[in-house]
Amino acid sequence: MKINIDENLCKGCGFCIEICPKHIFKESNNVNKKGYTQPNIVDPDSCIFCKQCELICPEMAISVKKEEEGK
Ligand code: SF4
Ligand code: SF4
Repeated sequence: MKINIDENLCKGCGFCIEICPKHIFKESNNVNKKGYTQPNIVDPDSCIFCKQCELICPEMAISVKKEEEGK
């Protein structure tokens, strides 16, 4: 799975970390361009494409695509 967080949009709320059943998002020390702490994406291959992260993100910063679609 191809998971992306738009660093221009993420506000570091951490909702994606809470919601993902596969724990794909992890707290990090990555401060994005806007000064918010953006989660790391770990092990995207475990993603089950439930899209809960996209739905919960208040900034619509997350996109999840199947690899084929991303090509
Ligand atoms: S689509 Fe579901 S499993 Fe995949 S990263 Fe988002 S919340 Fe996690
Ligand atoms: S839910 Fe969206 S805004 Fe909040 S930390 Fe995750 S990617 Fe950033």
